[in-house]
Amino acid sequence: MKSFLAPNYEPLPVTLVEGEGAWVTDADGVRYLDLLAGYSALNFGHRHPALVAAAKTQLDRLTLTSRAFDHELLERFARELCSLLGASMMLPMNTGAEAVETAIKAARTWGYEVKGVPEDRATIVVASGNFHGRTTTIVSFSDDDDARRGFGPFAPGFRRVPFGDAAALAEAIDATTVAVLLEPIQGEAGVNVPPAGYLRAVREACDEAGVLLVLDEIQSGLGRTGTLLAAELWGVRADLTLLGKALGGGILPVSAVVGDSAVLRLLTPGRHGSTFGGNPLACAVGLAVIDLLRRGDFVARSRVLGEHLHARLDELVSSGLLKESRGVGLWAGLDVDPGRGTGREVCEALMARGVLMKDTHGQTLRIAPPLVIRKTDLDSALDTLTEVLSGR
Ligand SMILES: *Cc1c(COP(=O)(O)O)cnc(C)c1O
Repeated sequence: MKSFLAPNYEPLPVTLVEGEGAWVTDADGVRYLDLLAGYSALNFGHRHPALVAAAKTQLDRLTLTSRAFDHELLERFARELCSLLGASMMLPMNTGAEAVETAIKAARTWGYEVKGVPEDRATIVVASGNFHGRTTTIVSFSDDDDARRGFGPFAPGFRRVPFGDAAALAEAIDATTVAVLLEPIQGEAGVNVPPAGYLRAVREACDEAGVLLVLDEIQSGLGRTGTLLAAELWGVRADLTLLGKALGGGILPVSAVVGDSAVLRLLTPGRHGSTFGGNPLACAVGLAVIDLLRRGDFVARSRVLGEHLHARLDELVSSGLLKESRGVGLWAGLDVDPGRGTGREVCEALMARGVLMKDTHGQTLRIAPPLVIRKTDLDSALDTLTEVLSGR
């Protein structure tokens, strides 16, 4: 059939029409457990009542002002997000990639104006296997051939070092380096958790060299890891933290750079902006997201259910049904033995049994259910995974 849709995705053959909590329903009325949760944009599940209510109230009041005019929720959103994360300033954008671009601009301008790096010479150190979005600058420092092929010329100013190797990272820093940009746990790469001492060593290397630590918590943040931010797992604080995905409650794109006012205050009027960034609807939903996170039960749920999830996955590894499993909280990357099928084939078999997951990089599956998932539902999805992997 002729499609009017550009072919930049190859979704599983399911057409969803409704969602509630961890469940979605297709056009034939078949129900599925959603174990992808919009790549963690749906941490609170589909249509969380508090988030939908906040959006509906705001829809009847004011939806957009542009930043040319102020509105009643913007300063409050900034204050409450900063207070949740112990930061002193934030800058609102829409998509994750825009938050990353904003941090790159902020770090470079800080490098020139504060650190004294010569004009246009700033470098940023990044990690192999990174995923920070799809803009031309961001794919410039990716090492994923699919993400780059045909999109050059690429932006200079980035140095890539192996993820998890703090010595290599420290080695790559020099007088031109303004920032280290990392995902504390790499999501797209397959939920790669770095070695225990890594992030602290990175923080120390940044402090020693006078370099900003920018942590992209767009996928790892806001409860996914059983902590508010993944960096808390190692007691590390970033200079700039990037949020997105779950910040919009699965309703609309909301992203932010949150961190040190000594950096963000350099972005003075006219230097950076966004028509939709910080719009009233985004702020209303974002404030409701902050309210949910403040309650603490989502984060606790992710931690407790996450322990259960990883215990069950470890059993699948010991029994030989999985090659490897990684992760923390309600977040796991599973490597499937090619003898049991490709990641895609396993996802198709799971779909036929009512469980939706997504493969990444061929043989890896990611489990990232909404944090509201019931334990019984998680267990039944894991039973289904066990059946599919054992060919039953
Ligand atoms: C999804 C993601 C992004 C990009 O977010 P978009 O909203 O798709 O632009 C950036 N960084 C990480 C770690 C992500 O997971």
